[in-house]
Amino acid sequence: MNLPNLTDTIVALATPPGVGAIAVIRLSGPTAIEVADLIFKGKKLADQTTHTAHFGHIRDRQGRDIDEVLATVFHGERSYTGQPTVEISCHGSPYIQQEIIQLCLQSGARLAQPGEYTLRAFLNGKLDLSQAEAVADLIASESEAAHGIALRQLRGGFKNEIAQLREELIHFASLVELELDFGEEDVEFADRSDLKNLVEKIRSHLRPLIQSFALGNALRTGVTTVIAGRPNAGKSTLLNALLNEERAIVSDIPGTTRDTIEEVLNIRGVQFRLVDTAGIREAQDAIETIGIQRTMEKIEQASILVYVWDVAGGMTLADVHADLAALVSRNSVPGFSNTRNGVPGYLIVCNKMDRNPLFRTEWLLDPTLPDIHPYLLGEEPDLGGPDLTTFKKLSNHLNAPSSFLLPPSSFIPVSAKNQMNIEYLKEKLFEVAAGEGVSLESTVVTNARHHDALRRADVALADVLVGLEANVTGDFVAQDIRRSLAYLSEITGSVGVEDILGNIFGKFCIGK
Ligand code: GDP
Repeated sequence: MNLPNLTDTIVALATPPGVGAIAVIRLSGPTAIEVADLIFKGKKLADQTTHTAHFGHIRDRQGRDIDEVLATVFHGERSYTGQPTVEISCHGSPYIQQEIIQLCLQSGARLAQPGEYTLRAFLNGKLDLSQAEAVADLIASESEAAHGIALRQLRGGFKNEIAQLREELIHFASLVELELDFGEEDVEFADRSDLKNLVEKIRSHLRPLIQSFALGNALRTGVTTVIAGRPNAGKSTLLNALLNEERAIVSDIPGTTRDTIEEVLNIRGVQFRLVDTAGIREAQDAIETIGIQRTMEKIEQASILVYVWDVAGGMTLADVHADLAALVSRNSVPGFSNTRNGVPGYLIVCNKMDRNPLFRTEWLLDPTLPDIHPYLLGEEPDLGGPDLTTFKKLSNHLNAPSSFLLPPSSFIPVSAKNQMNIEYLKEKLFEVAAGEGVSLESTVVTNARHHDALRRADVALADVLVGLEANVTGDFVAQDIRRSLAYLSEITGSVGVEDILGNIFGKFCIGK
């Protein structure tokens, strides 16, 4: 990438293009204040103290008044870019904006490239790379949670955490490198067990950061959540319960939700796009067939599958397994078959608990109880305490593939109709999207580039450990440490940044 020239004075509209009450035009660079003085009629801006605003007029070369404006002066280094800056607040008509920008261009400024202000801030040491990216996130943040995370990153939370880890690793890297200087001599400056402890400590810091990306990603892009299940299981009712309003059509006739319905549910700042689908049982008519087709397509695009099981409808656990296996295998969505952060991308909602109060999700915990037929449980079986033999007699044998065992924590008992346990279901949805134990209060990685660098650093550190375990020579250890250092440095932009700069700043729009 060719880095733009820092000695130019650049100009651009800093507010969105179009009509507004006011617009801000930003001039920055070594001659920004001189350029502004050429077009601004009022006090001489060069004589004013920094961080002050001044009323005046913008006049063109013919002495024609363009607008009444307020010019804010930033001297020297104490501006956003680290260079002299003038921000001209004018009235928000596109004509005025264009005239003022044209006048600045005629007076010696050039048009800024996308992200060039923030790039200057970075090159002048006002921001590190992760902070510069946080500016983009801050501007783009749509929810309170995303805003909070971007703001924390802008203030340098992430940077400090990484910088400290790097520091400690550099210390060891230099000790190992020192050993290499001694060549043949068998010296060990870097205590291997200390190094191992440090690497393990760093990895334990990296892991939550890496895991937090699931939440970071969810915050940025939202989470598509498909609600599937057999006709009449209560999918539409559940959707309504989650949204707390009457949106989907609810009826007693199986298969009434002919098409998919999409609604957005906000849980702690994460936007869940809920998709209600037609029942998954074999279609009776043509319209229903289309509905099922849509279900399959939706599941393919989803990150979370919520399977609704009517526990009063005569379906066994084996049936549930079979339905899920069919849904998952037909789509082979990686998120469903694998577990992410130990949490699978699906939840099984045991619905209509009000009609089968004897049903206990704890029974699902018992591996010796391969199947449950809740419909048969008209009255509480005499289980004699924790011994469930009577109950077992009622159960059919389960033939679900052993690769598809459902963890009991994935079963959520609710009554959609009575709004029972819906809040808990929301908590579980958040947990599946964010990963267990990840909270908005800790550092959350929202940027794919950071996540990738952290992951690579972690892999390199794992290699260091493998090397230490196998007693490899110092040069191999040093190589793996250097690799992990390089990845950590990529995040804050301390080394090897040239090639990634274009990528990052190119995503900004002009004027940022
Ligand atoms: P869908 O076909 O899966 O979308 O099912 P619906 O949401 O249309 O519900 C089918 C029927 O089950 C309706 O009569 C609902 O009122 C009823 N239903 C849904 N949830 C519950 C529940 O938690 N308890 C009871 N008793 N009935 C429910």
